[in-house]
Amino acid sequence: MSIRENLLRLKQSMPPHVKLVAVSKTQAVDVIREAYDAGQRLFGENKAQELIAKQPGLPDDIQWHFIGHLQSNKVKYLVPFVRMIESVDSLRLLKEINKQAGKAGRRIDCLLQFHIASEETKFGLDPEEARSLLSSESYQAMKHVRICGLMGMATFTDDENILTVEFRTLRGYFESIKNDFFAHDDAFREISMGMSGDYEVAIREGSTIVRIGTAIFGERN
Ligand SMILES: *Cc1c(COP(=O)(O)O)cnc(C)c1O
Repeated sequence: MSIRENLLRLKQSMPPHVKLVAVSKTQAVDVIREAYDAGQRLFGENKAQELIAKQPGLPDDIQWHFIGHLQSNKVKYLVPFVRMIESVDSLRLLKEINKQAGKAGRRIDCLLQFHIASEETKFGLDPEEARSLLSSESYQAMKHVRICGLMGMATFTDDENILTVEFRTLRGYFESIKNDFFAHDDAFREISMGMSGDYEVAIREGSTIVRIGTAIFGERN
């Protein structure tokens, strides 16, 4: 099936409030443009260098979500154009985003990435770390970042029970952090969870943003 057909089929299978991030990592600019020409505007990349290289060759109205582990020294290159950084996993990184966004005269939407998978390798905060970040004076003084919710990656498995438990866990973290830190902040409303293999379970468990690569572009090399 073509990229256009894949996008159409995915959109039709999702409730309208769920945002679809087309994960274009490893895809060439002309392939990304094919998705753009099919109407897709929201794209995700997980490597700063790759995004910085591809972005200038693509239309300005693409909304880029950064979804991978981000080193502080790369932040300044993304901040001028990135729409959302979904993968904030430390106060140190958030400080750098705030600083660079200030210089660029922008405010950057961010998600806090949580560790919910059983694999050791996946980055992310636990609830205690997130609470200490949100309680810190340095976070509370930040004017150039806006935290809009949480992001997480489930274990790589077909086991629906495991996926359900992990997504439900992230939803639970979202509810309690919303309640304790963002009760009166309407911007805090996103739960980014679900990829090609598990987005249906994620949506059932309350996802508002799914990040899908393979099911749009095919297997990556
Ligand atoms: C690659 C990637 C995805 C998309 O994975 P697919 O299985 O190709 O849909 C989603 N989120 C993150 C953080 C990724 O790195």
